[in-house]
Amino acid sequence: MIIQLEQKIKDNDKKAIVEKVNGLKYKTTEVTTQKGSYLIGIGKTDFDIREVGFMPGISDIHIVSDDYKLVSRKWKVKPTTIDLGDGVTINDKQLAIMAGPCSIEGEEQIQQTVEHLKANGVSIMRGGVYKPRSSPYSFRGLGIEGLKLWNKYAREAGIKIVTEVMQVSQIEEMYDYVDIYQVGARNTQNFNLLDELGKIDKAVMIKRGISGTIDELLYSAEYVFSGGNEKLLLCERGIRTYEKASRNTMDLNAIPILKEKTHLPVIADPSHGIGIRRHVEPIALASIMAGADGVIFENHSVPEEAFSDGQQTLDFDESARLIRRMRQTFELRESF
Ligand code: PEP
Ligand code: MN
Repeated sequence: MIIQLEQKIKDNDKKAIVEKVNGLKYKTTEVTTQKGSYLIGIGKTDFDIREVGFMPGISDIHIVSDDYKLVSRKWKVKPTTIDLGDGVTINDKQLAIMAGPCSIEGEEQIQQTVEHLKANGVSIMRGGVYKPRSSPYSFRGLGIEGLKLWNKYAREAGIKIVTEVMQVSQIEEMYDYVDIYQVGARNTQNFNLLDELGKIDKAVMIKRGISGTIDELLYSAEYVFSGGNEKLLLCERGIRTYEKASRNTMDLNAIPILKEKTHLPVIADPSHGIGIRRHVEPIALASIMAGADGVIFENHSVPEEAFSDGQQTLDFDESARLIRRMRQTFELRESF
């Protein structure tokens, strides 16, 4: 059960609610986020919600049968909107587009990408400064100095930044320079990292684990929400299967399923999802038709020279075409 507490609830009222709920054999956890205070009750006994719902200090009470609670669709009437400030929002009413290189490589590349995004009306730029690489000898990112440089150009252009955080110690140093912390597929179940991201007031986008189930992704989001941060996005980026013809298997099924299970925005990553440049566009468009609230993809002025993931990276002409077609596809979907 989720009990939404009144903002100015008295301590003794809260105590009485906890006692009542514990008496029903429900274990309680109190959660305070940017948006409200909740009491989460975990238990199995059947009871009449009127028994609890009338108590002073409660603004609403919901029975949520899913094992995850706060990220469940079952207690929220409206899907969540993530507000990044300066008029940039992510929700089911518009298509969020996030584009940029796999890795931030240097000043010239940042400038070129910012210019390309501006020209195409895209207000969120992706890029990695801390790169999780399979081989320790591959390019591992420019680190915090790269992020600062990127931030300078992005801020000037009014562009928001989404970038991966790999470990707890990076959260604070990155804080002033990012708009969305990305949790990569290799860290989806790094529960210490998720706990710490629950303590901050910035958006977090959690990617699906390489071999992660949809429920595991939702539980990861529940960690951050129950830690105190409601500003969450989920990202389907393909999973590892027995199929070798593509880098990953983009699980398009996950998109409508996630949309049904959670009120959080769902973003598709066709670049990592299929990993083959010429197939990124159809997978992006299919993701939109499947119900995605946004798409994140990789681009570069010269993909062949990209420091990482060039094989799945679009050049700027392909990127501009994809942006145009994604918007058309979204309009088509909305016209149904
Ligand atoms: C990336 O976005 O470049 C990335 C490394 O993604 P993932 O964690 O999905 O592999
Ligand atoms: Mn990449």
